[in-house]
Amino acid sequence: MARYTGPACRICRRQGDKLMLKGDRCFTPKCPVEKRHTPPGQHSSSRRKVSEYSLQLKEKQRARSIYGVLERQFKKHFTEAERLPGMSGENLLQILEMRLDNAVYRLGFADSRRQARQLVLHGHITVNGHVTDVPSYQVKAGNVISWKESSTKLVLYQTVVKNIESKTIPSWLSLDRDTMSGRVLAKPSRNDIESAIDERLIVAFYSR
Ligand code: SF4
Repeated sequence: MARYTGPACRICRRQGDKLMLKGDRCFTPKCPVEKRHTPPGQHSSSRRKVSEYSLQLKEKQRARSIYGVLERQFKKHFTEAERLPGMSGENLLQILEMRLDNAVYRLGFADSRRQARQLVLHGHITVNGHVTDVPSYQVKAGNVISWKESSTKLVLYQTVVKNIESKTIPSWLSLDRDTMSGRVLAKPSRNDIESAIDERLIVAFYSR
């Protein structure tokens, strides 16, 4: 399935939830979900009984949309989560959280995960000094995430530096604002993962 490249806000409206896909705009009254509570589509407001399956499906789609992951990749992450010791749901969230594009977003190098993904894909980000252009790359404790030397000349980089003070960095990462490099301190715990995702519904969806 091809990656959805349409308006991010449409995904939120369909889910009827603020998925915070557009960075700062999401915190302003311009957010369409704040203005309009009905999903897009002609029959969007019709009342329907919600089945257990549709709740599970919706939660899985919600998590996919938040992290910007395609179905095939998401299923791959889930298979890996099941293989690991511990709770599959928590493992899944940990895997999603430790994707390189998410770590770049969490470090405040991008306003949204979409933008972080572009930064990674275009080769602006290094891990331990090596350009890493794979958004799904799993970062590990001790990894240093930074900008490629030549990318520090970008206007975007200058904007990021200007705004970095206002960013809150999660406890599993640390950021040296002088050198604009981040370090992975540990695997994130469930409490470190702020997304209000009910991972039990996702596990139930794949266990059917
Ligand atoms: Fe979603 Fe942000 Fe668009 Fe609001 S502004 S609908 S939260 S992407």
